[in-house]
Amino acid sequence: MTSYDYDLFTIGAGSGGVRASRLAASYGAKVGVAEEHRVGGTCVIRGCVPKKFMVYAAEYGRMFHDAKGYGWTSGEKSFNWRTLIDNKDAEIDRLNAIYIRNLKNSGVDIFQTRAVVKDPHTVHLVDEGRDVTAARILIATGGAPWVDESIEGHDLGVSSNEVFHLDEMPKRVVVTGGGYIAVEFACIFRGLGADVSLVYRGKDILRYFDHDISTHVHEELKRQGIQVITQSVFTKIEDTGEGNRRVHLSDGASLDCDLVFWAVGRKPATRGLGLEGAGVEMAKNGAVKVDKWSKSSVDSIYAVGDVTDRVNLTPVAIREGAAFAETTYNNNPQNMDYAFIPKAVFSNPPVGSVGYAEHEAREKFGEIDIYRTDFRQMKNMLTGDEQRTLMKIIVDAKSDKVVGVHIVGEQSPEMIQCIAIAVKAGVTKADFDATCALHPTASEELVTMTQKYIPA
Ligand code: NDP
Repeated sequence: MTSYDYDLFTIGAGSGGVRASRLAASYGAKVGVAEEHRVGGTCVIRGCVPKKFMVYAAEYGRMFHDAKGYGWTSGEKSFNWRTLIDNKDAEIDRLNAIYIRNLKNSGVDIFQTRAVVKDPHTVHLVDEGRDVTAARILIATGGAPWVDESIEGHDLGVSSNEVFHLDEMPKRVVVTGGGYIAVEFACIFRGLGADVSLVYRGKDILRYFDHDISTHVHEELKRQGIQVITQSVFTKIEDTGEGNRRVHLSDGASLDCDLVFWAVGRKPATRGLGLEGAGVEMAKNGAVKVDKWSKSSVDSIYAVGDVTDRVNLTPVAIREGAAFAETTYNNNPQNMDYAFIPKAVFSNPPVGSVGYAEHEAREKFGEIDIYRTDFRQMKNMLTGDEQRTLMKIIVDAKSDKVVGVHIVGEQSPEMIQCIAIAVKAGVTKADFDATCALHPTASEELVTMTQKYIPA
């Protein structure tokens, strides 16, 4: 029998790679993991976690204003960018240390280096200038921000890799993109007091979501003073001196700012990884093609997380990593179940969504019933905030099953995480109706919608 240095060698210590590696080691596998940046990966180091701190920071800004309606007065408010960044970084350092400790405690060897695949059983550790062999190799390198390099001056903008470490709080921001990152950061910077323009190539931002979600968020962005420019793209970015930039748009307009932020998607991080050379089949966008067991076209090479471009979310990568380890090292075959994954956009107001959008549900189920409400939350009545909450329930008319719940409004991600349990379990609209309301809450609306909504 061939003997290898490792049973499993993982490239990439982000959410998926760490989960798979720790679990495999706990089942007795000898595991090594290589990470070229920091252990924790995109989510912990330069994604979900630091982003959420910035979302909270923006919320605090609004709370000063809202508190007045409840009788509070305070001194002149000011915001210190450095304090936010330093405190955020200290917390990221703490989490990074926990990730490293957990890997080590599980018996996983950590290699702080870039690693490339040499052949189906060999990984080259670039910084150490040596090879290690493994019975199986797991690719968990995630994704990286994509920037349109065909645009003159594209390098005058930043991506989500750099945005967490700006020296100063920008005063005028131009964001391009209409997806998660663009919408979230437009709201963050607006909440922190910047003038923000969002430039999107299409008509409806967040177009992957239910159309009502998309239009509701669009209106809320405008209401809070974000300039939303649709059906337009960057044609050129100029350096106009003293840190200022001028962005030229395809509609002929130009925008002056001190931060240009690219948020036009991410690409699987496989460039230069040696996968093609090892015989691994790749998708056009660089994703590793895998089967339902996360196995690539090469028997000994697997991949989990964003690098496979299935559903690019942290909890999905974690589950894919766990399913791989359970199947391979615990004789407990498991596939990731992609049905009814809850999703959130941490915009202002945030979006929480689970299941089918209206157009998807019509296509899948034919006849559907829609329940929809749009209201101002009670808290806003004393603050003067005109922000509106949207709730939409989509029901398969034949089975009465709730197949989609979509909310834009304060705390909607928290609501959706709980609702997702019921939707995943096959809850019916009759179950919603039979559930007693909890008063006074915003979410009680979910169990008191009785009138079917007829779209215009
Ligand atoms: P998204 O895929 O969400 O959005 C990319 C946006 O860029 C889309 O609006 C797209 O337009 C636009 N775009 C793509 N190509 C071009 C181009 N050539 N010129 C102009 N615009 C373009 O990507 P993000 O970067 O926002 O986020 C990446 C991924 O990270 C998400 O898919 C998500 O999986 C994950 N993420 C999740 C978060 C969460 O769970 N809250 C938060 C942040 C990221 P169009 O709509 O027309 O295709």
